[in-house]
Amino acid sequence: MSSSNPTRTRDDWARAAAQLTPAQGHFIGGRSVQSRAGATMPCINPANGQLIAQVARGQAEDVDAAVASAQAAWRDGRWRLQSPRQRMAVLQRWADLIEQHAHELALLETLDMGKPISDVLNIDLPEVLRTVRYFAECIDKLDGAVTHTAPEAMHLITHEPLGVVGAITPWNYPMLMAMWKLAPCLAAGNCVVLKPAEQAPLTCTRLAQLFVDAGGPEGVFNLVNGVGAEAGQALALHPDVAKITFTGSTAVGKLLMAYAGQSNLKRVALETGGKSPQIFMPDLYDLDAAVDRAVGGIYDNAGQVCNAGSRLLVHRSLYDAFVERFVARTQQTYRPGDPLDPTTTMGPLASRGHQAGVLKRIALAQAEGAQCVIGGGSTLGEEATFVAPTLIAGATQSMAIVQEEVFGPVATVQAFDTEAQALQMANDSIYGLAASVWTSDLKTAHRMVGALEAGVVWVNCFGDGDMTQPFGGYKQSGNSRDKHIDSLLSYMQTKSAWFNLV
Ligand code: ADP
Repeated sequence: MSSSNPTRTRDDWARAAAQLTPAQGHFIGGRSVQSRAGATMPCINPANGQLIAQVARGQAEDVDAAVASAQAAWRDGRWRLQSPRQRMAVLQRWADLIEQHAHELALLETLDMGKPISDVLNIDLPEVLRTVRYFAECIDKLDGAVTHTAPEAMHLITHEPLGVVGAITPWNYPMLMAMWKLAPCLAAGNCVVLKPAEQAPLTCTRLAQLFVDAGGPEGVFNLVNGVGAEAGQALALHPDVAKITFTGSTAVGKLLMAYAGQSNLKRVALETGGKSPQIFMPDLYDLDAAVDRAVGGIYDNAGQVCNAGSRLLVHRSLYDAFVERFVARTQQTYRPGDPLDPTTTMGPLASRGHQAGVLKRIALAQAEGAQCVIGGGSTLGEEATFVAPTLIAGATQSMAIVQEEVFGPVATVQAFDTEAQALQMANDSIYGLAASVWTSDLKTAHRMVGALEAGVVWVNCFGDGDMTQPFGGYKQSGNSRDKHIDSLLSYMQTKSAWFNLV
């Protein structure tokens, strides 16, 4: 991608950041609008505590305006009635514009959320582009069906979009998590109202403007900024919203299902929390490679990843060597630092409140008798929100640090003796988003994949995949799948048309 310019220094990025003027409104009907009541909320840079912008803070009346805009666009068919090729062209142009604005988007993401700029340029943005382009390409690849009937009848099954979809998204990958919803939703012909996370809304607002710049009709992609209990709740309760698609916490996922029941039985698609186990069997073929991926699996994005491999289950015969290498690899690889510095590999946590929550969980684990092998506290000064990469040993299965999602750079390491014990520990969780198994034996791998209660299982890798991989969880990790062409179908409903031919 043209954007990954390795010659840019921290100072170059800081100068560019000083020139930015982030959009501060909602995006409704193709233009930026302020909240009707004039309320705003601050966007804070977690790397230094400084104010980046005051953005509109939406209330129910702002959500009503956005849903009305989407509903008008839905009813007059300005998007869904375009030919598949026309919609494909808009989405492809959208991807091109996102690519052309990569530097600006990367800066906004880094300032707003604290993610290292190299990660935005090399991970998030390429994934965003792949997502838009994949679903653009999928639009005319879906078929309906003509079923076998008696000669006096004809039966067609077609897929139709749902109408107005509400998307509620998190702050850990602000653009990418939004795009996993937006691209299939728009490709299917729906209109959308996005409520991005209040901690990092700035890039999503740019995505909305770029959709219109790419030729997307006004009113098809609307965005309301605001906090969950106000704008988010109003969107999820709205009677004209046909579906809520969500990535975030399990607790909020449960609320969204209740809101659907209290309002119009809208569909609710949830991708929620995780506590992913990584199992290292005694016959794994390359301990260095396994440790390398284990480190990345928990510390990338400062552990703020729903499928983070936060529970390391290591066969007792490997345990000491594993921990020793894990510590060395972590110290070599993760340098907490200014996220605008292209050499930084770990940014701050996304907010002060989140940092406090992560530190509290580490302290509780220690109070319950576990020990920090490395890390365990904040780092790099009071004005920022860093937490040092932390590895916790000596935790037992019932401790909160093993059972509850931390969403920070914190892993536990536990020893096991048998495959059955490893599987029991792995599955002893309310979550079931992802898991990995490291072994050189194909039969062991196959057996364990079948036994693991998780929507995604990686064998001898962690986090690998492409757009053909359905991503989502078992148990309380959710009820839906992002990515894959099936996700496009999840933004549609079937219509059965039975023709009487006599
Ligand atoms: P986190 O705890 O990681 O911030 P949340 O689940 O609280 O995750 O937030 C994910 C998204 O859900 C955000 O956009 C947030 O504003 C939204 N949200 C939070 N509470 C509610 C709610 N009661 N109703 C609707 N959306 C909500």
